[in-house]
Amino acid sequence: MKYLLYGVILLLFVMIIIPSIIVMGFSFMKGNDVPHKGAKLVREGSATDIKDTKDFNTINVFVVKENRIIKMNLEDYLKGVVAAEMPAEFEEEALKAQAIAARTYALSKEIAAGGKGCELHPGADICTDYKHCQAWESNAELKEKWGSKYQEYMDKISKAVDDTKGLVIVYQDTLIEPAYHAISGGKTEDSVNVWKSNEPYLKSVVSPGEENAKKFKTTVTVSIDEFIRRIKSKAPKAVLNSKNVLSCIKNIIRTPAGHVESLKIGGACLTGNDIKDLFNLNSTNFTFNLQGRNVVLTVIGYGHGVGMSQYGAEAMAKEGKNYEEILKHYYTGVEIKKFDDLIRKVFDKPSVK
Ligand SMILES: [Zn+2]
Repeated sequence: MKYLLYGVILLLFVMIIIPSIIVMGFSFMKGNDVPHKGAKLVREGSATDIKDTKDFNTINVFVVKENRIIKMNLEDYLKGVVAAEMPAEFEEEALKAQAIAARTYALSKEIAAGGKGCELHPGADICTDYKHCQAWESNAELKEKWGSKYQEYMDKISKAVDDTKGLVIVYQDTLIEPAYHAISGGKTEDSVNVWKSNEPYLKSVVSPGEENAKKFKTTVTVSIDEFIRRIKSKAPKAVLNSKNVLSCIKNIIRTPAGHVESLKIGGACLTGNDIKDLFNLNSTNFTFNLQGRNVVLTVIGYGHGVGMSQYGAEAMAKEGKNYEEILKHYYTGVEIKKFDDLIRKVFDKPSVK
C-alpha cells in the first residue's frame, strides 16, 4: 500500500506539477513581451486609435482651391508640399530635411495613424491651407510657377522625397509636431513662448546664416494717422497723441529670442500678434521708428520662429551639414526613424486578452 501511495504521488507530480512548471516557466518568459498598452504614434493618440495599418501609403487631402478631398499617394503628396513650402533652388539636404518634416506632420495628422485629421475639413487628414495645415501645390500650379525650370526642379524635389522615403522625426518613439517657419531672425523660439505648449523638442536654438535671406529684415511704413486708426480698431480706448505717438508705447516685453509678447500702447495692452495682424508684419520681432509723419515698423524674421528655420536649414546645408544634422539641430533630442519600424513596434506586441 505504501508503495502504491508513493506511486500515486509520483504520478501526480509527473501529471500536474511538471506541466505547471513548464507552463509557468513559459509564461514567465513571456513577461518580457507584455502588451505595449502605451504604444502610440501621435502625441494624443493611442494604439487603439490606429485603424488601418495598410493605408499609410495614402492620405486624404482637402485641396482648398478645388474645394474637395483627393486621395493621394503619400510620397507624391509630399513632393507637392516640399515644392510649395521651400524654394526649389535650396540645397538638396535642406529639401530632404523639409521632406522629412512634412512627412512627419502629414502622418501625425492621418486619422489612420491615430491623428485627428484636419479639424476644418471633416473626413480629410490634412488640408492645403498653409495657415492651417501645410501648403501643397499641384503639378499644374508648379508648371506655371517654374515655367521652363519645371522638370529640373521637380526632379530635384522628387529626389529629396525619394531619398528619405518613409523617414520621420520622433521623440521617444512618438511623431513630433515638426513646426517650421521661413526665418527665425537668428534664434528660434521655445514653443512655450508662442503657443504655451511646452514641447521638449521645440526649444530655442541659434540659427545663424539667415541674414542673406531677402526677407530677413523688412519694413512696413504707415502714416501716423493710419497707425492710430489701426491701433484704435483693436483697442478703441487707447489714448494716442499724434504729436508724439511713439511716447505712448511702453512696457515692450520680449521673449529671449526677441519676439514681442506684449506691449502697452496709449494705456491699452496688446500682444505682439495683435500688432503683427494689424500691420501685416512677417513676424512679431519688430521695432517702431518715426520718419517724418510716418511710423516705420522694422521686422526681423518671417514666421512664428518655432522649430526648423527653412533659411537656417539652407545655411546649414550650404556648410555641408546633412538632413539629419539639420533636423537634430532644430528639434532638440529627436531621432530620425523609419515609419514602418515604428508601426512594427506598436503592432508586434501581443494584444491585451
Ligand atoms: Zn487643415
